[in-house]
Amino acid sequence: MPRSRSTHRLSLDEFQFINHVRRRFGNTASSVARGIGDDAAVFTPRKGCQTVLTTDLLVEGVHFDLKTAPFEDIGYKSAAANLSDIAAMGASPDYALISLAVPSSLSRSDINRFYRGFMSACRRHGVQLIGGDTSASRRDLFVNITLVGSVATGHAITRQGARVGDLLYVTGTIGDSLAGLALLSGRTLNLPDSTRHYLIRRHLRPSPRLEVGLALSEHRLATSAIDVSDGLSGDLRHICLESEVGVEVDQSALPLSNQLRTYARVRAADAVDLALQGGEDYELLFTISPRNRQKLQEQAGRLIGRLSCIGIIRPQKFGLQLRDATGRMRRLPQLSYRHFQSSPSLQAFS
Ligand code: ADP
Ligand code: MG
Repeated sequence: MPRSRSTHRLSLDEFQFINHVRRRFGNTASSVARGIGDDAAVFTPRKGCQTVLTTDLLVEGVHFDLKTAPFEDIGYKSAAANLSDIAAMGASPDYALISLAVPSSLSRSDINRFYRGFMSACRRHGVQLIGGDTSASRRDLFVNITLVGSVATGHAITRQGARVGDLLYVTGTIGDSLAGLALLSGRTLNLPDSTRHYLIRRHLRPSPRLEVGLALSEHRLATSAIDVSDGLSGDLRHICLESEVGVEVDQSALPLSNQLRTYARVRAADAVDLALQGGEDYELLFTISPRNRQKLQEQAGRLIGRLSCIGIIRPQKFGLQLRDATGRMRRLPQLSYRHFQSSPSLQAFS
């Protein structure tokens, strides 16, 4: 997708810029005593709640590509990725802080479009912008988002609570975002336009599953949860490690969209591999006790078109295994995206 570059370069007159952001996008909530414009923000926490904090650093060329993604979408997705972390804790998002390092090659309208996309995702979920930081950058755009959320005391869903015999669920469909990314990155395939648009949109405009996460925590349905950001196989590994359990995944139960199946067929790729590997779907992966199966359908099933039971938690020594359509078991392949693979200094810690 083309990127409009106005000839007005953003001269980082920080003061003017922050004032503009404050007027156009700043908070309006009565719970905020001080938002943008002071040394720090002040808000009144919700009664009976614990505060949930999450932050994400997004780097041009690593997390997004200005050549393929419009600024509105980069802004939207920066918010969505963080909102998804809040959803995975079963929490509600309340406030956002946003820090930018902006290269001089970007225009004022580029940044405005970024904020518009960011705020469209925030407003949909009642999130108020209460601060941030701004810097120039020599070359690349850096974006850091912090979200503040809340969850009823004791109700947060962690990665630690999965127990042997629990059922494993995932919302929506998985693998679409990876296919969308490949299409955006220039892979030319003979696909129907509607299929192409669907997959690209799933990559650029993911829907954080906040309502589902909240239903899970309110009714104490989930024993553990994580959002699918690095890919199903890797994210599932996090649950297993933190909960000290194994898992059996039923390959034929993996929710694949028809569009992903078409894409895989045309590419002569394995749709299941794409689904196991595909990151950035921002669906929720969670476990429940089998006795809550019915209640889950009543409380969360009505909130989302698709909720799939894809496996069962096993003892730790079972490891992570995939049962294929013929019933044969194999080790769950680890296909998830890992940033560190391209960064030797960070890899040294693994
Ligand atoms: P300080 O020098 O104390 O860091 P700044 O001048 O950076 O203060 O920030 C002034 C106010 O503007 C603060 O309320 C800060 O949170 C807010 N702010 C700065 N940059 C941004 C931004 N990119 N988006 C939103 N708010 C911002
Ligand atoms: Mg500052």
